Amino acid sequence: MKTRSNYWQILPYLRPQRLTITKALACTIAFTIFWPIIAWLIGETAKVIGNGDLKGFAQIAGFSAIVFLVRGTVQYGQDTLMAKAALIIALNLRKKVYAHLQQLDLSYFEKSQTGDLSYRLTEDIDRIGEVVNKFFHQFIPCILQLIVVLGYMVYLNWQLTLGALIIAPVMALLIGWFGERLLIYSRRSQDRISDLSAMLAEVFSGIRLVKAFAAEEYEINRFVQEAEQNRRAKYLAEQVKALQFVIVGFLEAMSILLLFFLGGWQISQGNLTGAGFISYVAGVALLIDPISITTSNYSEFKQGEASCDRIFELLAIQPSVVEKTGAIALPHVNGQVEYQQVSFAYQPEKPVLQNLNLLVHPGETIALVGPSGAGKTTLVNLLPRFYEPQTGNILIDGINIRDVTFSSLRRQIGIVPQETILFSGSIAQNIAFGQTYYEMKDVESAAKIANAHQFITQFSNGYQTWVGERGVNLSGGQRQRIAIARAVLLNPRILILDEATSALDSESEALVQEALERLMRDSYGGLRQRTVFIIAHRLTTVRRADRILVVESGKIVESGTHDELLAKGDRYACFYAQQFS
Ligand code: ADP
Repeated sequence: MKTRSNYWQILPYLRPQRLTITKALACTIAFTIFWPIIAWLIGETAKVIGNGDLKGFAQIAGFSAIVFLVRGTVQYGQDTLMAKAALIIALNLRKKVYAHLQQLDLSYFEKSQTGDLSYRLTEDIDRIGEVVNKFFHQFIPCILQLIVVLGYMVYLNWQLTLGALIIAPVMALLIGWFGERLLIYSRRSQDRISDLSAMLAEVFSGIRLVKAFAAEEYEINRFVQEAEQNRRAKYLAEQVKALQFVIVGFLEAMSILLLFFLGGWQISQGNLTGAGFISYVAGVALLIDPISITTSNYSEFKQGEASCDRIFELLAIQPSVVEKTGAIALPHVNGQVEYQQVSFAYQPEKPVLQNLNLLVHPGETIALVGPSGAGKTTLVNLLPRFYEPQTGNILIDGINIRDVTFSSLRRQIGIVPQETILFSGSIAQNIAFGQTYYEMKDVESAAKIANAHQFITQFSNGYQTWVGERGVNLSGGQRQRIAIARAVLLNPRILILDEATSALDSESEALVQEALERLMRDSYGGLRQRTVFIIAHRLTTVRRADRILVVESGKIVESGTHDELLAKGDRYACFYAQQFS
């Protein structure tokens, strides 16, 4: 496990806030100067009260009121300025991490757990913000307070101060040792918490499966075990923390006893007055808070270090598919697609596509058929560069897709997946997904082409009906038509359709099929065809395709029209017999 601190990596995020931090620190310094004044005032008050000097007391009380008023003002400045800087730093870090995550490619998200990612973006970043805030707002003021008050105490009586400080290095060593222990336990407990939320996200998104397999009991057990591990890890961290307070507290009590003993001795030697000693004790009392705050800050900083590690570890991940520097915008394409000697593997030892060659003419409809796991999805996923082939090239209209920007490439490729994902938002927002500006009339005509207009307008809120989480439930067929409307609105030259394997009722099926056929035509029902890749599961689809490619073990083993391939009586004929007849 990595132990080196990543805190220094926060520095670039502090820089833009340097002006606010400097103002806050100026307030802090002003605030600190008041500590020895307060210690002195306490000694003076004790003196005038001891002498029964009421006039003297009134003067001191008046002066004290001014001192506390000014001190309160600078304290307000220190608190608000620092909170402001820390919150902006956390916000900037959160924006940066989120934008970074959006740049990462699919293969990263397939390996990571969504619960863990959201934990990092929320809890971990909040903790870093708190660390920054506490560092400037508590830790530095406390250290300054310690220095100034100690200085005042040395000025009052250095022998006494020396004696009281004997125990300090021992204390510092012990605090350091406990801090290290605590860091290890806190890392462990944070990992456990994010395991727990990752597990929850997984279970709730797959709740249908849990129900279908009557696996509730099994899931409850799994959850209980995970929650128990979490409890244990947290309890261990709490125990270490509690022990730390006991030991530090005991050492503090011992140093106070020592102080009284030394104080009595110094007064008996005539080196210190009674008022001086009271002022001195007030100084010691003023040391207690900063010592205990810096001690607890130290443990919090150690805990925050784990969060910091997890954030900067995330920021250090490089996407495996990157946009070339100086990438050009892919011009509006005709839709010719060419795969040249393309080989691809998700894991190096398991090749998925091998030396694949394919030329697709503009406007051609290609149906991909073959057994599950043959590589059909992989083949089409290389086109929008969701993954990068290890060898070979893919060209669109003769332009290598590696040379163009992601956005210009992906905007020309429409994808209708098997399962439509709806985000929380209105139906209109879902149809216009990814478009910052859209016209309602375009959304409506897209929905009409996609056979979705009718069911949408039946909702009382029409296009403004809320879908996604906490929204209305749409049937499988309705969701598919929303996905088709999305693609219609995008109006791409190239389409990738992943036909749903699950059967719809015959009416829905007919509506979806009709919508798909309209989508395959160019520009809102024009006569030109788009270039279409369909991962086909239905006979009507393969029959209508211009060309059928039979994919097996990452290779195109047969290609031709339905009739040609049937007449050939080989792989397709066999596949057809198994799947469709
Ligand atoms: P098909 O679409 O023909 O069913 P896929 O392209 O989905 O086939 O899968 C081809 C092979 O690649 C399979 O062996 C599958 O297990 C593997 N595979 C697919 N997606 C991934 C992934 N994201 N990571 C690792 N292996 C994958």
